[in-house]
Amino acid sequence: MEAAPTGQRSSHQSVEKGRSRHKIPRHVETDIAYLYEVLPQLSRIFRIIDKIGEGTFSTVYLAEAQMTDGSRRMFALKHLIPTSHPVRIAAELQCLTVAGGTENVMGVTYCFRKEHHVVIVMPYMEHQTFVDIVGSLSFEDVKHYIFHLLKALRHIHKFGIIHRDIKPTNFLFNQQRREYTLVDFGLAQGTPDTQIELLKELLGLDKAPRSVFGEKNINGTNSHKPGTDKVEGLLLKTKREEVIPRKIVSSKHRSVPVRTPLNQKPKPPTVSPMLTCNCFMTDRVCNVCLSRKQQVAPRAGTPGFRAPEVLTKCPNQGTAIDMWSAGVILLSLLSGRYPFFKASDDLIALTQIMTIRGSRETKEAAKTFGKSIVCSRELPRLDLRILCETLRGLRSWDDTSLPAEFQASRNPAEVKQDAGSPTKKRMSSGSPRSIAELQEMGWDKVPDNAYDLLDKLLDLNPATRITASTALQHPLFKDMTD
Ligand code: ADP
Ligand code: MG
Ligand code: ZN
Repeated sequence: MEAAPTGQRSSHQSVEKGRSRHKIPRHVETDIAYLYEVLPQLSRIFRIIDKIGEGTFSTVYLAEAQMTDGSRRMFALKHLIPTSHPVRIAAELQCLTVAGGTENVMGVTYCFRKEHHVVIVMPYMEHQTFVDIVGSLSFEDVKHYIFHLLKALRHIHKFGIIHRDIKPTNFLFNQQRREYTLVDFGLAQGTPDTQIELLKELLGLDKAPRSVFGEKNINGTNSHKPGTDKVEGLLLKTKREEVIPRKIVSSKHRSVPVRTPLNQKPKPPTVSPMLTCNCFMTDRVCNVCLSRKQQVAPRAGTPGFRAPEVLTKCPNQGTAIDMWSAGVILLSLLSGRYPFFKASDDLIALTQIMTIRGSRETKEAAKTFGKSIVCSRELPRLDLRILCETLRGLRSWDDTSLPAEFQASRNPAEVKQDAGSPTKKRMSSGSPRSIAELQEMGWDKVPDNAYDLLDKLLDLNPATRITASTALQHPLFKDMTD
């Protein structure tokens, strides 16, 4: 089984069904014992059964409790890392209590704390792992899924909550019951007029918020510890230049004080702040630029789901960033490929976006939010229908003129071992489907308005990007009841 690239593979179904048979690994037993030890009050109420998710900032457990009426109920216990800032924790809880429990947004049952250990207790929602189901969904299923995601987004955006980490592992989906729940407000921020008081407090506090570079998979891969994030700018120097078009993201009119990476010994400054840049419009990065101060801008989320304004560190970010992420999810759903953009850092992610949405278009959009992007190669904007249908196997590769980057995705079997460029990645569930199967699932009759909505979600310009409430009025959903 392939590891999900980001987020947690929780395989709840097997956990649920095979609970009695399923032997819990020793290290999970140890973790459960530790949780009982640091929060002894849990043992009076819960029987902790298994670990179901592990991210950089929390570990989530499945637990059972006996209710006062004698019935047994399942809960998810989210144990936050003890180093989380108290306001951050309180803000996460407040999002759940104020906005949660309705409209496909997770609610909260209780919260335990002892010293710096906090556990958030939520109703347990049994769900499937996105990578396991994305290939088996019909077009109707996809429409349903995105509709319910938009509902959750409309709801939280009404409260002035920017989720900042919209991706399938944070939108739990139960295929049989057609239930959906948005979870994880661990990175949420408030709009200037947010109704969540603690998010306002965070605005002042979170000058340099934590960044998530892919959560740790439950299988233990893709680990990324806080504090090891590379400092932007310096990324430009790395080998990456060999695999992607060289590019520079810079903000004009910036002062250039010297900075050093967080996790390296400070070096004596080599560049005078008065020097002017001599690399503009070239494919090199000069010392002046390498020593530029990192712009303070929220940079939360997972690279492949980040909006262009997040990737270029635009300081004014709004609810539109969640809409972009919803667009990336829809792109996965329509093409049957997950993850669609597999990027280990922001610059790779930006290049992958340009591969689909066009380099000229991306540059123009960036200009509207005060960023200048230089890209050595012109990348044409792709037709979304042709892209998705080709990736799904409905169109022959020979009839389409997809750029070289995509040729690697021709044969999913071939691609399995290969990670890298956009979509150069697995067909999510097993072997490709026959045309007859695809027709049966409605993939041959996807209406234009599905691609129209996708285009509006993946609008490079946050100012014109569709909002959740407008998206729910989109003709694609005319037969759906809100
Ligand atoms: P993190 O901040 O570590 O990403 P999340 O809140 O996203 O924490 O939870 C991690 C994982 O735990 C989720 O992707 C999901 O698989 C599982 N999970 C979280 N909350 C619930 C819940 N209420 N019911 C079932 N599973 C949950
Ligand atoms: Mg999460
Ligand atoms: Zn320069």
